[in-house]
Amino acid sequence: MTFQIVTRGDALRHSAGRVAVSVSLTVIMTAAVMLLQLGTDLDASVGVGTVIFSTICAAVAISAVLAGGLSFRSALLMRDLTLARRELAQISRTDQLTGLLNRRGFDEAAALALKSAFATGRPAVVFMCDVDRFKSINDRFGHAFGDKVLVEIADVLHACAGKDGALVSRHGGEEFAALMIGITHEQAAQYAEDIRQACAAREISIDGNSTLVTISIGFTVARDEVDLSTIMQVADRALYIAKHGGRNQVARADAASLVAA
Ligand code: GH3
Ligand code: MG
Ligand code: MG
Repeated sequence: MTFQIVTRGDALRHSAGRVAVSVSLTVIMTAAVMLLQLGTDLDASVGVGTVIFSTICAAVAISAVLAGGLSFRSALLMRDLTLARRELAQISRTDQLTGLLNRRGFDEAAALALKSAFATGRPAVVFMCDVDRFKSINDRFGHAFGDKVLVEIADVLHACAGKDGALVSRHGGEEFAALMIGITHEQAAQYAEDIRQACAAREISIDGNSTLVTISIGFTVARDEVDLSTIMQVADRALYIAKHGGRNQVARADAASLVAA
């Protein structure tokens, strides 16, 4: 059974145990060396220098072994801690269903990407994608089927935009977001159209049920230094326009539309 250190008391008990082990080992080792030097005859005459040399050798050997062992052990624990932290950070930024970034992961990575894009004078394009009538897909085919739809849409987004270096995320529910840096307005429109068509063409099947699914996409191109939340709002506004235009379509908005809205 492994000893779990959870409370401060556990840590103190653990440390006390280690101190006890190291003191016992030092006592045993020193006694053994002394016994070797002096023998069992307590009246034997041995030079003081020999005794001092023996005890120093024993103490140095014991402390070297213990310090080396303990510091190697703590280095291994620190390595495990670093790996566990890295894994937790990765999990906390990943959507478990689709494997894409989740909203937190996207927001963090996108804020950094935007900063560097604006610093080098490159435009940033945000796409907001939303599955059309997803509730009715869940209602008709069940939640598991709905989940499969989300995985397939994520796959299309990853294949269409992710391969070209876009940040792609499941932003929540049946909504996906993507950020691309340094592409023109025309290229952005083409990416969005490709994604829309690829989703509409992908037949999704599970347990004998199959259907086609469409998505609506809103996008915006930001050239001036704007913060991420403003760009996301503009892209959301574009998505709203695409939905209200009849769904299964791409719409664009710019920052002025927020003022106009
Ligand atoms: P619209 O075309 O206007 O976007 O309509 P919609 O039905 O797609 O949108 P609505 O917001 O009415 O419904 C979204 C549904 O998505 C409701 C919710 O139950 C479902 N949903 C959210 N997250 C998940 C999920 O992880 N898995 C599944 N299967 N369904 C989800
Ligand atoms: Mg929807
Ligand atoms: Mg939605």
